[in-house]
Amino acid sequence: MNINDFRFDGNKKFKISDFDTKQDGKFKDRSEAEELRDDHIMELQGLQERLYAEGKEGVLIIFQAMDAAGKDGAVKYVMSGVNPAGISVHNFKVPSSEELAHDYLWRAMKAAPQRGMITIFNRSYYEDVLVVKVHDLHKKGSLPERVLTKDIFEDRYDQIKNYEKHLHQNGFRVIKIFLNISKGEQKKQFLQRIDDPSKNWKFSDGDVVERGYWDKYMEAYEEAINNTSTPDCPWYVVPSDKKWFARAVIAEIVVSTLESINPKYPEVSEKRKQKLAEFRELLMNEE
Ligand code: ATP
Repeated sequence: MNINDFRFDGNKKFKISDFDTKQDGKFKDRSEAEELRDDHIMELQGLQERLYAEGKEGVLIIFQAMDAAGKDGAVKYVMSGVNPAGISVHNFKVPSSEELAHDYLWRAMKAAPQRGMITIFNRSYYEDVLVVKVHDLHKKGSLPERVLTKDIFEDRYDQIKNYEKHLHQNGFRVIKIFLNISKGEQKKQFLQRIDDPSKNWKFSDGDVVERGYWDKYMEAYEEAINNTSTPDCPWYVVPSDKKWFARAVIAEIVVSTLESINPKYPEVSEKRKQKLAEFRELLMNEE
């Protein structure tokens, strides 16, 4: 598996109709992919600890997807095994009145990672060029006339690119992951949520309504990805009909990003080493 096959950094166009959501790499079977995923989780633990100890770079991982594509599972999976002190998750829901009273990036900025931390956005400011675009929500809010131009989404792509560039230039990595499922797979997942009583709570009536706008969403995703993919802040479009494959890909994306940071434990000065030796002696000589 080569994650570069799924990486969009502005050098190639993303065309949703050409993308095979059922891909499962060259794995012999599911268990082989799960083995690789578990190896990555082990690596992630060590990398996260060093990231935290070094406290220089921060990492923002954004998950976007249609309903039932496995966003929650992906978040849970990245969280598994890593030290909870160094990772946080933010879910972006329908904006509150306080959030709507600010610009759309405000709530994301407040939740941005600190140095040494990994922050996961479960949905993000990309909703403001996805659901908002699909339903023309910008026209229903309280934006002034002068910003409601035909270019409002082109403007937002630029604003998002600039914000992510700003983060990158200030020591934060931004990776954006689109879990791409087919409409057929979504139907299967919805039916499972209806048929399996333990999954009923996951089903919300609105999900079926949104499904009715599938083509408009796909168009919005394609445009958003093509307009906001950059070498420093790439998009990864992850085939997600097979969740076990998606998780193996996500694991590799996260690990390779942390590896590229190559965080190191802070160096201990000679003076400090001497001090530690003194403490050691003190402890050893305790009664
Ligand atoms: P799950 O995938 O587990 O069902 P979820 O992410 O769908 O969880 P919900 O609370 O069901 O969580 O949905 C969040 C809803 O908020 C989505 O329908 C999303 O489109 C909507 N939303 C998020 N940001 C915005 C925004 N800026 N404007 C309007 N709607 C938004």
